[in-house]
Amino acid sequence: MNRASAEVNLSAITDNLKLIKSKTDAQVLAVVKADAYGHGLIQIGKTATDAGADWLGTALLEEGIALRKSGIKIPIISWLTPLGEDFKTAIDLDLDLSISSVELLSEVIAAAKSIKKIPRVHIEVDTGMSRGGVGDDWQMFIDHLIKASKSNEINVVGIWSHFARADEPDEKMNKEQMAIFEDRLKSLATAGISPEFIHIANSAASLTNKGAHKNIIRWGIGLYGLSPDVNNLGDSKSLKLKPAMKLKAKLHLVK
Ligand SMILES: *Cc1c(COP(=O)(O)O)cnc(C)c1O
Repeated sequence: MNRASAEVNLSAITDNLKLIKSKTDAQVLAVVKADAYGHGLIQIGKTATDAGADWLGTALLEEGIALRKSGIKIPIISWLTPLGEDFKTAIDLDLDLSISSVELLSEVIAAAKSIKKIPRVHIEVDTGMSRGGVGDDWQMFIDHLIKASKSNEINVVGIWSHFARADEPDEKMNKEQMAIFEDRLKSLATAGISPEFIHIANSAASLTNKGAHKNIIRWGIGLYGLSPDVNNLGDSKSLKLKPAMKLKAKLHLVK
């Protein structure tokens, strides 16, 4: 007998996906990074797709590649891509990539050229989370972006950012980040680039801030049935989320 096991209830995943679908007009991206928060990458990727997810998202490229190789056809984006990754394979498998610097842009373009494809990219904007994305060098970055876009070296399909404190809905940083994001959208539009997909909301913002939904929301912890923040947003039950994982172990000792 197993000493300990994790049981994953796939119908809870389905229900949690459908719940957020019913609350938004945006497309839903199921976040399946980090082995689907420990629930099993491929299994959750397939379940979320069958339940109506429009996109899958991972941090690491190898997880995006593994999802595509498992036969999943919906759009997949991988957003944590340092220089030197296997962009050729990713582009060949039609993965969307996130771009956060001129250096990365050049590398992705070079990889795509070598297999005669045009890569689909989403621009990551640092609006205050400071974990990634184009920051103060925005103007220099879009100068390069416009050149690459005009010469058909890239297809800018998206622009996105990430809230640092969405689980505290009243925190003023949320508004500040949104204002910077809107400003970047405007400057991109002025430069003649209007990406089809605009996304900034994680689970907490999806649940509390409809104005942040734009046209894709990124549904992470909520997909697994957990509250993004029990104190500020309430527990799973009050949010009508169903926890998908049960941990079981043999009782060893009671004192
Ligand atoms: C992890 C992650 C998410 C999902 O966040 P949750 O709070 O779990 O919903 C969304 N977007 C990005 C970029 C992430 O890294």
